[in-house]
Amino acid sequence: MKVLGYGTPSTSDLLVPLSFEREDLRDGEVSLNVTYCGVCHSDVHQVHDDWDNSLYPCVPGHEIVGEVTAVGDGVTKFKIGDLIGVGCMVNSCQECDYCREGYENYCQGPKSCTLTYNGPKKPDGSNTYGGYSTHMVVREEFGVTVPDTIDPKYVGPIMCAATTVYAPMLHWKLEQGQTLGVLGVGGLGHMAVQLGKALGARVVAFTGHADKQQAIRDLGADRVIIHTDEEQMKSVEKSIDLLIDTVPYPHELDKLLPVMKTDTTIVVVGNFIEFPKFVPGPMVFERIQIAGSLIGGVKETQEVLNLCAERDIKPEIKIIDIEEINDVFELLRRNSDHEFRHVIDMASLHERAGQLTSEAKQVKTPVRGEVVGR
Ligand SMILES: [Zn+2]
Ligand SMILES: [Zn+2]
Repeated sequence: MKVLGYGTPSTSDLLVPLSFEREDLRDGEVSLNVTYCGVCHSDVHQVHDDWDNSLYPCVPGHEIVGEVTAVGDGVTKFKIGDLIGVGCMVNSCQECDYCREGYENYCQGPKSCTLTYNGPKKPDGSNTYGGYSTHMVVREEFGVTVPDTIDPKYVGPIMCAATTVYAPMLHWKLEQGQTLGVLGVGGLGHMAVQLGKALGARVVAFTGHADKQQAIRDLGADRVIIHTDEEQMKSVEKSIDLLIDTVPYPHELDKLLPVMKTDTTIVVVGNFIEFPKFVPGPMVFERIQIAGSLIGGVKETQEVLNLCAERDIKPEIKIIDIEEINDVFELLRRNSDHEFRHVIDMASLHERAGQLTSEAKQVKTPVRGEVVGR
């Protein structure tokens, strides 16, 4: 299937219309018409090759919602017309202990799970393209059911941002009445504040953006601390039971260690570039653990989507047209973004598909030489 998307032909390029071939629907797969796609900070890292693993062309987007347009043989989970969400993965081995338990994100198959973009896909190990495109193809196991009670435009950011912060709350057993710390209140952090409250925790948000304080309180945070203000930091010393660090670039943790209670955990979810810098003394004396967590499994993604629908928890979004994507990337790159999350209304791509397809750069899909998943 010929698909139109937005992506970068090489590392230094802006995102431009690209025309590429998506593989035909195979058994067990569904194809969908993408209606909205959230913009995640990972999209920016991937197109700029900040993680040193990008293949080009690179078409990002892993906060996807769309309508099923075709189903392959053997599909039982979805039918044509269903609205489904797709997050950071499109395939995995489905056989290892982690996949069987619903943690496909930690698949121990030969090459782990297949990421929605920049991941190798069976049968030939070709590079995957994400949701900044008119259509997607995904194994049915990786689609989540969108409850009727949620407006589809809010679904995308729940697929990655909400799942990424919700999974550690479950794993580290955040309990009612405990205090959750959230460092960095952007796409991930603003969902963490709301989900922490939904689970009955007290929430202390740490931000460097003084102008966001009221907006963060409006999300439900019990306290908002400007982390550069020593007095404010002192006022929350030894008060946090679990801290989710959502900052997507290298940063220091020294000033965060004193806010942790003894025997607690700081979970890094946003920064894969460099280990956070800190002097380990307070960690040793207070038996504080510094841990990492990667997105969430499909089961957790469905659970958090259902929770958001039931409790009317919504990401704060600014809807944009696909043509605005380079401006949004620039804001995210400079960390001067004042929105919590941008979501692309893909109608802006569908409506111009006829014209853009003729102008778009035709690209060939690179093969990574690794075959994973089923
Ligand atoms: Zn993401
Ligand atoms: Zn597996």
